[in-house]
Amino acid sequence: MNGCQWSQPVGRRVQIARRNLTDNPHIATWWFLKRYSLLKEHVLKPKLGVTNFWGRTEFQARGSIHAHEFLWCMIDGLLVLKENDTEENRRAFCKIWGLTITAINPAPDRETAPEGERSALQMHHDEVENTVGHLSNIVSRTSIHKCANYCLRTKKGDPPTAPKHCRFHYPRPPNMDEMNIDSADGVDQHHVPPPRLTNKWHPKYASFEAVRNDPIPNVLPFNRLASMSWRANCDFMPCTSKSAVINYIAKYASKAEETSKSYKDIMTSVLGRTVRCSRQWGS
Ligand SMILES: [Zn+2]
Repeated sequence: MNGCQWSQPVGRRVQIARRNLTDNPHIATWWFLKRYSLLKEHVLKPKLGVTNFWGRTEFQARGSIHAHEFLWCMIDGLLVLKENDTEENRRAFCKIWGLTITAINPAPDRETAPEGERSALQMHHDEVENTVGHLSNIVSRTSIHKCANYCLRTKKGDPPTAPKHCRFHYPRPPNMDEMNIDSADGVDQHHVPPPRLTNKWHPKYASFEAVRNDPIPNVLPFNRLASMSWRANCDFMPCTSKSAVINYIAKYASKAEETSKSYKDIMTSVLGRTVRCSRQWGS
């Protein structure tokens, strides 16, 4: 945007920004990769003791760039869980990750942003304050899962008319100390204080169930520092076992996005239009 465009009303600026993004995907991609590498270098590495990483950058159907990443972390006291590990090790694992990953809604009293509130995503970094208010401003705009066609599925064996369920298991019930007697899944019959590991989402391996104070909205597990720094969607999940890692890689990190048309296909479709135009114009 040039200086003149910045003086436009917000709605008009959004339109211009959207058009610029569509017309200049190479610039947007460069900035994403630059910003993401700075986040890793200056925030995630020191915060989580990242020693190595592996990931994949993808473009969704409309060109939205995003990354799936595995981080190797060196956090004091952190242990690598084995399949069917001891209860003591599972508790220690959850205790460490519970300090880093949370699903606590910072402002449970507000369902949507208050009218007139300026989005922290649009602020200059000097303006973002290290407060719960700004954390809430960011989380409510970037870390809420909204169920839609892409996540709603009928259960295997159910007729197509049966009610659909979210494949990411939202909405999730509150997960606080006083609400922890969970007999619904038939697994956590004994009292295990949150955060904890649960098999109710994936029977074949345990998942980390972060502390959650509010069932609605569907707050994704996040890291406070990363959310404040990145100011875009960014959720975290600790690796609980080899099976969980393989499942993630197979299902998400290595899946093929819908491919673009080949150059030949594009040229063929353009040629068809050119011929039609030529006939229309009588040449
Ligand atoms: Zn959903």
